Amino acid sequence: MSGIVFDIKRFAIHDGPGIRTSIFFKGCPLRCWWCHNPESQKQGIEQLDFKFKGSTQIGWKTTAEELLKEAEKDRPFYEQSKGGITFTGGEPLMQAKFLIETAQLFKQNNLHLCLDTTGYASTKIFQEISQYIDLFLFDLKHLNAEEHQKYTGVSNKQILKNLSYLVEKGKEVHIRFPYIPSVNDSEKQLQEMASFLKELKQIKNISILPYHKIAQGKYEKLHFENKMNGIHEPSKTEVENVKIFFEKQGFDLKIGG
Ligand code: SF4
Repeated sequence: MSGIVFDIKRFAIHDGPGIRTSIFFKGCPLRCWWCHNPESQKQGIEQLDFKFKGSTQIGWKTTAEELLKEAEKDRPFYEQSKGGITFTGGEPLMQAKFLIETAQLFKQNNLHLCLDTTGYASTKIFQEISQYIDLFLFDLKHLNAEEHQKYTGVSNKQILKNLSYLVEKGKEVHIRFPYIPSVNDSEKQLQEMASFLKELKQIKNISILPYHKIAQGKYEKLHFENKMNGIHEPSKTEVENVKIFFEKQGFDLKIGG
Protein backbone atom coordinates (compact mmCIF):
# COMPACT_ATOMS: atom_id res chain seq x y z
CA MET A 1 0.00 0.00 0.00
CA SER A 2 1.05 3.61 -0.25
CA GLY A 3 0.99 6.53 2.16
CA ILE A 4 1.78 10.23 2.15
CA VAL A 5 4.80 11.87 3.70
CA PHE A 6 5.79 15.52 3.47
CA ASP A 7 9.47 15.51 4.45
CA ILE A 8 12.42 13.23 5.15
CA LYS A 9 15.28 14.61 7.22
CA ARG A 10 18.57 12.75 7.27
CA PHE A 11 21.11 13.16 10.08
CA ALA A 12 18.47 14.29 12.58
CA ILE A 13 19.87 14.48 16.11
CA HIS A 14 16.88 15.77 18.09
CA ASP A 15 14.32 13.06 17.36
CA GLY A 16 15.52 10.22 19.56
CA PRO A 17 18.91 8.63 20.30
CA GLY A 18 21.89 8.84 17.95
CA ILE A 19 21.81 9.88 14.33
CA ARG A 20 18.42 9.31 12.77
CA THR A 21 16.37 9.67 9.63
CA SER A 22 13.10 11.39 10.47
CA ILE A 23 10.15 10.61 8.24
CA PHE A 24 7.30 13.10 8.39
CA PHE A 25 3.83 11.64 7.83
CA LYS A 26 1.16 13.99 6.54
CA GLY A 27 -2.06 14.59 8.45
CA CYS A 28 -2.78 15.42 12.09
CA PRO A 29 -6.04 15.24 14.07
CA LEU A 30 -4.91 18.08 16.35
CA ARG A 31 -4.87 21.81 15.66
CA CYS A 32 -2.40 23.13 18.20
CA TRP A 33 -2.27 26.91 18.32
CA TRP A 34 1.55 26.80 18.29
CA CYS A 35 2.01 24.24 15.48
CA HIS A 36 5.30 24.73 13.60
CA ASN A 37 4.12 22.69 10.64
CA PRO A 38 0.60 23.91 9.89
CA GLU A 39 1.06 22.71 6.31
CA SER A 40 1.26 19.14 7.67
CA GLN A 41 -2.15 19.10 9.33
CA LYS A 42 -4.51 18.24 6.49
CA GLN A 43 -4.53 14.70 5.18
CA GLY A 44 -3.57 14.16 1.56
CA ILE A 45 -1.30 15.94 -0.87
CA GLU A 46 -2.13 19.62 -1.22
CA GLN A 47 -1.05 22.65 -3.18
CA LEU A 48 -0.44 25.57 -0.88
CA ASP A 49 0.02 29.11 -1.95
CA PHE A 50 3.03 30.60 -0.18
CA LYS A 51 3.00 34.40 -0.55
CA PHE A 52 5.91 35.43 -2.89
CA LYS A 53 7.07 31.83 -3.39
CA GLY A 54 3.96 30.75 -5.28
CA SER A 55 2.22 27.40 -5.26
CA THR A 56 4.07 24.53 -3.56
CA GLN A 57 3.09 20.89 -3.33
CA ILE A 58 3.02 19.57 0.23
CA GLY A 59 3.40 15.80 0.49
CA TRP A 60 4.07 12.96 -1.90
CA LYS A 61 2.90 9.42 -2.25
CA THR A 62 5.36 6.71 -1.26
CA THR A 63 5.60 3.08 -0.16
CA ALA A 64 7.25 1.24 2.74
CA GLU A 65 9.85 -0.18 0.31
CA GLU A 66 10.76 3.27 -1.03
CA LEU A 67 11.12 4.62 2.50
CA LEU A 68 13.32 1.68 3.47
CA LYS A 69 15.58 2.36 0.48
CA GLU A 70 15.97 5.95 1.66
CA ALA A 71 16.57 4.90 5.27
CA GLU A 72 19.19 2.33 4.29
CA LYS A 73 21.45 5.08 2.89
CA ASP A 74 22.55 6.03 6.40
CA ARG A 75 22.70 2.63 8.08
CA PRO A 76 26.43 2.96 8.96
CA PHE A 77 25.65 6.18 10.85
CA TYR A 78 22.82 4.54 12.79
CA GLU A 79 25.10 1.66 13.73
CA GLN A 80 27.94 3.93 14.87
CA SER A 81 25.69 6.26 16.88
CA LYS A 82 23.02 3.80 18.09
CA GLY A 83 20.49 5.76 16.06
CA GLY A 84 17.78 4.71 13.64
CA ILE A 85 14.51 5.94 12.24
CA THR A 86 11.90 8.28 13.71
CA PHE A 87 8.35 8.40 12.41
CA THR A 88 6.98 11.88 13.00
CA GLY A 89 4.54 14.32 11.43
CA GLY A 90 1.83 15.50 11.62
CA GLU A 91 0.61 12.43 13.48
CA PRO A 92 1.94 9.22 11.88
CA LEU A 93 -0.90 7.19 13.41
CA MET A 94 -3.37 9.01 11.18
CA GLN A 95 -2.07 6.66 8.49
CA ALA A 96 -2.04 3.72 10.87
CA LYS A 97 -2.15 0.91 8.32
CA PHE A 98 0.64 2.40 6.26
CA LEU A 99 2.69 3.15 9.37
CA ILE A 100 2.28 -0.39 10.69
CA GLU A 101 3.31 -1.87 7.34
CA THR A 102 6.35 0.42 7.19
CA ALA A 103 7.36 -0.23 10.81
CA GLN A 104 7.04 -3.98 10.29
CA LEU A 105 9.30 -3.88 7.22
CA PHE A 106 11.86 -1.64 8.95
CA LYS A 107 11.92 -3.90 12.00
CA GLN A 108 12.50 -6.96 9.80
CA ASN A 109 15.56 -5.04 8.62
CA ASN A 110 16.82 -4.47 12.16
CA LEU A 111 16.35 -0.74 12.42
CA HIS A 112 15.80 1.03 15.76
CA LEU A 113 12.40 2.75 15.58
CA CYS A 114 11.02 5.78 17.41
CA LEU A 115 7.46 7.03 17.07
CA ASP A 116 6.88 10.70 17.78
CA THR A 117 3.17 10.82 18.60
CA THR A 118 0.42 13.05 19.94
CA GLY A 119 -1.08 9.93 21.55
CA TYR A 120 -4.38 10.66 19.82
CA ALA A 121 -5.50 7.34 18.28
CA SER A 122 -7.43 4.30 19.43
CA THR A 123 -5.77 2.04 22.01
CA LYS A 124 -6.15 -0.82 19.52
CA ILE A 125 -3.85 1.02 17.11
CA PHE A 126 -1.34 1.53 19.93
CA GLN A 127 -1.57 -2.18 20.70
CA GLU A 128 -0.66 -3.02 17.11
CA ILE A 129 2.08 -0.47 16.54
CA SER A 130 3.74 -1.00 19.92
CA GLN A 131 5.13 -4.39 18.86
CA TYR A 132 7.41 -2.65 16.34
CA ILE A 133 8.37 0.56 18.15
CA ASP A 134 11.44 0.67 20.41
CA LEU A 135 10.86 4.12 21.85
CA PHE A 136 7.79 6.36 21.98
CA LEU A 137 8.32 10.12 22.00
CA PHE A 138 4.98 11.02 23.51
CA ASP A 139 3.69 14.62 23.47
CA LEU A 140 2.04 15.81 26.64
CA LYS A 141 0.62 19.27 26.20
CA HIS A 142 -1.91 19.89 28.95
CA LEU A 143 -3.51 17.83 31.70
CA ASN A 144 -6.69 19.86 31.96
CA ALA A 145 -9.30 18.41 29.57
CA GLU A 146 -11.03 21.71 28.69
CA GLU A 147 -7.78 23.60 28.19
CA HIS A 148 -6.43 20.76 26.07
CA GLN A 149 -9.57 20.94 23.93
CA LYS A 150 -9.24 24.70 23.61
CA TYR A 151 -5.58 24.78 22.57
CA THR A 152 -5.39 21.62 20.44
CA GLY A 153 -8.97 21.04 19.26
CA VAL A 154 -9.26 17.60 20.89
CA SER A 155 -9.79 16.15 24.36
CA ASN A 156 -6.83 14.63 26.20
CA LYS A 157 -8.84 11.67 27.55
CA GLN A 158 -7.75 9.16 24.92
CA ILE A 159 -4.20 10.53 24.95
CA LEU A 160 -3.80 9.96 28.70
CA LYS A 161 -5.38 6.52 28.38
CA ASN A 162 -2.86 5.55 25.68
CA LEU A 163 0.06 6.89 27.68
CA SER A 164 -0.98 4.76 30.67
CA TYR A 165 -1.43 1.77 28.34
CA LEU A 166 2.12 2.04 26.94
CA VAL A 167 3.62 2.41 30.39
CA GLU A 168 1.65 -0.59 31.71
CA LYS A 169 2.90 -2.61 28.75
CA GLY A 170 6.46 -1.75 29.80
CA LYS A 171 7.21 0.21 26.62
CA GLU A 172 9.94 2.81 26.72
CA VAL A 173 8.34 6.26 26.67
CA HIS A 174 9.97 9.68 26.67
CA ILE A 175 7.71 12.66 27.25
CA ARG A 176 7.87 15.75 25.02
CA PHE A 177 6.44 18.79 26.74
CA PRO A 178 5.84 21.88 24.58
CA TYR A 179 6.35 24.63 27.15
CA ILE A 180 4.18 27.60 26.26
CA PRO A 181 3.83 30.76 28.35
CA SER A 182 0.26 31.51 29.40
CA VAL A 183 -0.91 28.12 28.05
CA ASN A 184 0.72 25.50 30.29
CA ASP A 185 3.37 27.30 32.36
CA SER A 186 1.70 27.98 35.72
CA GLU A 187 3.12 26.42 38.86
CA LYS A 188 -0.15 24.55 39.37
CA GLN A 189 -0.07 23.08 35.87
CA LEU A 190 3.56 22.02 36.15
CA GLN A 191 2.90 20.43 39.53
CA GLU A 192 -0.11 18.53 38.14
CA MET A 193 1.99 17.23 35.27
CA ALA A 194 4.84 16.14 37.54
CA SER A 195 2.41 14.34 39.89
CA PHE A 196 0.66 12.59 37.00
CA LEU A 197 3.95 11.41 35.50
CA LYS A 198 5.26 10.26 38.88
CA GLU A 199 2.18 8.11 39.32
CA LEU A 200 3.01 6.37 36.05
CA LYS A 201 6.29 5.35 37.71
CA GLN A 202 8.30 4.14 34.69
CA ILE A 203 8.52 7.60 33.09
CA LYS A 204 11.95 9.12 33.61
CA ASN A 205 12.76 11.23 30.57
CA ILE A 206 11.17 14.55 29.73
CA SER A 207 12.17 16.88 26.90
CA ILE A 208 11.05 20.48 27.24
CA LEU A 209 10.26 22.02 23.88
CA PRO A 210 10.14 25.78 24.51
CA TYR A 211 7.72 27.70 22.32
CA HIS A 212 9.35 29.80 19.65
CA LYS A 213 7.91 32.04 17.00
CA ILE A 214 9.84 30.54 14.12
CA ALA A 215 6.68 29.44 12.28
CA GLN A 216 4.91 32.81 12.43
CA GLY A 217 6.10 33.83 8.97
CA LYS A 218 4.67 30.60 7.58
CA TYR A 219 1.22 31.42 8.97
CA GLU A 220 1.41 34.81 7.29
CA LYS A 221 2.58 33.42 3.98
CA LEU A 222 -0.14 30.78 3.96
CA HIS A 223 -2.85 33.17 5.17
CA PHE A 224 -3.55 30.81 8.12
CA GLU A 225 -5.02 32.26 11.29
CA ASN A 226 -2.31 32.79 13.89
CA LYS A 227 -3.75 32.49 17.39
CA MET A 228 -0.39 32.97 19.09
CA ASN A 229 -0.23 36.75 18.71
CA GLY A 230 0.65 38.23 22.08
CA ILE A 231 2.16 35.01 23.45
CA HIS A 232 5.88 35.46 24.09
CA GLU A 233 8.74 33.02 23.75
CA PRO A 234 9.91 31.83 27.18
CA SER A 235 13.22 33.30 28.36
CA LYS A 236 16.26 31.08 28.99
CA THR A 237 15.74 31.57 32.73
CA GLU A 238 12.09 30.48 32.55
CA VAL A 239 13.05 27.33 30.65
CA GLU A 240 15.90 26.59 33.03
CA ASN A 241 13.54 27.01 36.00
CA VAL A 242 11.11 24.47 34.54
CA LYS A 243 14.00 22.08 33.95
CA ILE A 244 15.12 22.45 37.59
CA PHE A 245 11.53 22.03 38.79
CA PHE A 246 11.15 18.63 37.06
CA GLU A 247 14.67 17.52 37.99
CA LYS A 248 13.89 18.13 41.66
CA GLN A 249 10.99 15.69 41.23
CA GLY A 250 13.37 13.00 40.04
CA PHE A 251 13.07 13.23 36.24
CA ASP A 252 15.87 13.34 33.65
CA LEU A 253 15.45 16.52 31.69
CA LYS A 254 16.53 17.69 28.30
CA ILE A 255 15.83 21.01 26.64
CA GLY A 256 14.87 20.55 22.99
CA GLY A 257 13.90 17.40 21.12
S1 SF4 B 1 0.24 17.73 17.16
FE1 SF4 B 1 2.04 18.57 16.21
S2 SF4 B 1 1.63 18.53 14.00
FE2 SF4 B 1 -0.33 18.24 15.05
S3 SF4 B 1 -1.20 20.28 15.17
FE3 SF4 B 1 -0.12 19.89 17.09
S4 SF4 B 1 1.93 20.72 16.79
FE4 SF4 B 1 0.97 20.53 14.75
